[in-house]
Amino acid sequence: AIYPDRVNSAGVNLDLSASAKPFFDQLNRFKKHSWSAYPLVNGEPSTDAGKIVDVLSPRDHQDIVGKVAWAGKAQAQHAVDVACEAFLTWRRVDVEERARLLEQLADQLETHQAELIAMCTREAGKQLHDGVDEVREAVDFCRYYAAEARKLFHEGAPLPGPTGELNELFVQGRGVFVCISPWNFPLAIFLGQIAAALVTGNTVIAKPAEQTSLIAYRTVELMHQVGFPEAVVQILPGSGKELGAALTSDPRVAGVCFTGSTQTAQHINRSLAARDGAIATLIAETGGQNAMLVDSTALPEQVVKDVLQSAFASAGQRCSALRVLYLQEEIADRVINLLKGAMQELTIGDTWYHHTDIGPVIDQTAQQKLLAHIDEMAKRGKLLAQAPMQDETKLGSYVPPTALEIDHINWLSQEQFGPILHIIRYKKSALGEILSQINATGFGLTLGIHTRNTQLALAIADQVNVGNVYINRNQIGAMVGTQPFGGQGLSGTGPKAGGPRYLTRFITEKTRTNNI
Ligand code: GLU
Repeated sequence: AIYPDRVNSAGVNLDLSASAKPFFDQLNRFKKHSWSAYPLVNGEPSTDAGKIVDVLSPRDHQDIVGKVAWAGKAQAQHAVDVACEAFLTWRRVDVEERARLLEQLADQLETHQAELIAMCTREAGKQLHDGVDEVREAVDFCRYYAAEARKLFHEGAPLPGPTGELNELFVQGRGVFVCISPWNFPLAIFLGQIAAALVTGNTVIAKPAEQTSLIAYRTVELMHQVGFPEAVVQILPGSGKELGAALTSDPRVAGVCFTGSTQTAQHINRSLAARDGAIATLIAETGGQNAMLVDSTALPEQVVKDVLQSAFASAGQRCSALRVLYLQEEIADRVINLLKGAMQELTIGDTWYHHTDIGPVIDQTAQQKLLAHIDEMAKRGKLLAQAPMQDETKLGSYVPPTALEIDHINWLSQEQFGPILHIIRYKKSALGEILSQINATGFGLTLGIHTRNTQLALAIADQVNVGNVYINRNQIGAMVGTQPFGGQGLSGTGPKAGGPRYLTRFITEKTRTNNI
């Protein structure tokens, strides 16, 4: 094993109903609970900034999950003052202590997993098993980055040089990092960014997605409980437009770690470039226009299982999700027929229940946009199948999993972040052209390939410019340390989350030459 000292978190097995009973008992305690989130600057919660918003659950808009007080520009400035000051001491704290705090946090997350899963379900509309995976991934990020930081900071072997001169290379944090996280992994990605920044000696101001501030705030509370200093990790809920902009335009910020849309990443990039002062680091993980190629040697039943998972799991709200399925014409009708049948069997509904297959999308704005896209594509192309909706879906923001046939990937100008699958038939002789079209989108996140022809699979994997290729399986759910995750081009800057080089972008290096 490459990392013999660390194993991924086991999570909860929801299928074994007897052994899962204590977990469900815990979970049910949070069914009606209400949480709050405030700007937390140097450990002081404040509500004087202005706007206070109610958080409505996407699974049922009558379910009010809690209240969030948004931060304004003045709090952003104050938080940067505090973070700059705290950096001077935090950067000198031994890596062992920072790593140990992360490991204690991982244990703390496991202790509180029922509450965190309830929050994933109620605030973000996630299914229970997605919530379980979310906590596991957050725990894995903590333990993985702790282990990687120990290696990175202890690699300082003396460098070769002339006799009488001692040459050494040190690594250290860069300064204040602003971590801007998405609502689709409101715990795992939120914490993955922060964990990496903190363990490498940076101080952090976290700006969670507007839709999921409650779970973010709760996580920061747990961080302070295990001993992360309050000035070292601060949280500011608020709007991307105002608060995000105030943070990224501050010349004292040394780096921004962002996951979200390509457009917002480009906006942040411009904001950082327009500042007078030090050149900041930008780590961005953005969208995709992810394809799967299926040739005539593929196993249709397996293809359908992996397509359902890749396109519709988490209601398609993963940047890794399958958007464009290419079927070689000889196999296309068989796969489409099986897929139509399988889609009729999906249960769309309230994610609080274990039997639900697909839950809501994040909010009504997303719902309207996705439904409009389905209408447009159904007119221009062909509606192939739509999963049936249960009555309870009227309570929240649901979109039926939909399969549409289209002619060309360039019909899709934007990423559609929901349960919508586009299907394109292709002739074997056009395969080379199709690979060029996929590359021409400029996105490069995930690619799925289904074929029994291993040489072909490897050749395609080599030609398409993406960060993660999956052969004969689904193309979502990258695991920490196993499938380091992240794309290229319009899909992100790298480095890969959960990979051995992720931490390197959070550090700066110092060479010391000492003529003793
Ligand atoms: N890492 C996730 C996966 O492999 C996707 C992350 C995202 O959606 O931002 O499915």
